[in-house]
Amino acid sequence: MAGTLLVTGSVGIDTVETQQDKCENCLGGAATYFSLSAGLLSPVWLVAVVGEDFPQQFMQILESRQIDLSGLETRSGSKTFRWHGKYSQDMNSRETIAVQLNVLIEAGPQIPQHFGNSKYVFLANHDPAAQLEFLDQLAGPEVVVCDTMDLWIDTQRDNLLKVLGRADGLMINDDEARGLTGRDNLVTAGRSILELGVKFVVIKKGEHGSMLISKDDLFLLPAYPTEQVVDPTGAGDSFAGGLMGFLARQDSGLDPLKLRQGLVYATLVASFTVESFSVDGLLAADVKKLSARRDQFLAMIGGA
Ligand code: AMP
Repeated sequence: MAGTLLVTGSVGIDTVETQQDKCENCLGGAATYFSLSAGLLSPVWLVAVVGEDFPQQFMQILESRQIDLSGLETRSGSKTFRWHGKYSQDMNSRETIAVQLNVLIEAGPQIPQHFGNSKYVFLANHDPAAQLEFLDQLAGPEVVVCDTMDLWIDTQRDNLLKVLGRADGLMINDDEARGLTGRDNLVTAGRSILELGVKFVVIKKGEHGSMLISKDDLFLLPAYPTEQVVDPTGAGDSFAGGLMGFLARQDSGLDPLKLRQGLVYATLVASFTVESFSVDGLLAADVKKLSARRDQFLAMIGGA
């Protein structure tokens, strides 16, 4: 039986522009991408708040995969988090055109009582003070993994270090790893992050793949070679969802081999996300397609 997996973070409405196309008022949010990804592999408990403007059809999408929504509050009188981003031609960088935090800066979500004993917890990118407050309400999860961003590294470093002191793992991209540690070399940056208290760190390098570093292991994976990236939004959260969904499904804690295998699922789930706007690529994925892509990917990276 899968270990219980809880996620907290943003559920929102995105407008995303690429040089070719645009998706206006689409379903977005870090916890959304995480839940729909992890939900391919394991049941998920989602804890988040949206405003009364959150469209009913988005709620139905979230209901479609083994996601328990009893921790998703629709707050009357409040507005949903909104984000508007625009990608460069090569899709490797993006600019935030507008962000309306709305309900995200109000009181945090309530954790339903039956979620309090979750074993696997993912803290999606959010203010580290809120991440700490959230952790305080849990009974003692076995595996806590968190995400963060440059904004918090620059403005909330002390609280972020407290989160890392209490977390088991960190998912971070290459530039953020350099910003957090002041080290240019990603291996030494990863090792410095371990000294901050986590047992493992995954450094994401976009189209160049990812690197897992723990005290006893260093594992490298290329990205899946997607030929047409339509919208990279949510790739990082989907990656985390693939890893945590796999760990919860296996329910073997931080077994080093399972972490390596989980990174393969993380890579593949993220590859579905970038194939379409919003969550459409993820919704088109299922366990059978994931497993077929896994065989194809393993054949590509092995056999030398
Ligand atoms: P990713 O591409 O993995 O970084 O995730 C993008 C998602 O994160 C989008 O769907 C946004 O709605 C959400 N997002 C963007 N900025 C923030 C923020 N400051 N806090 C929480 N979520 C955010």
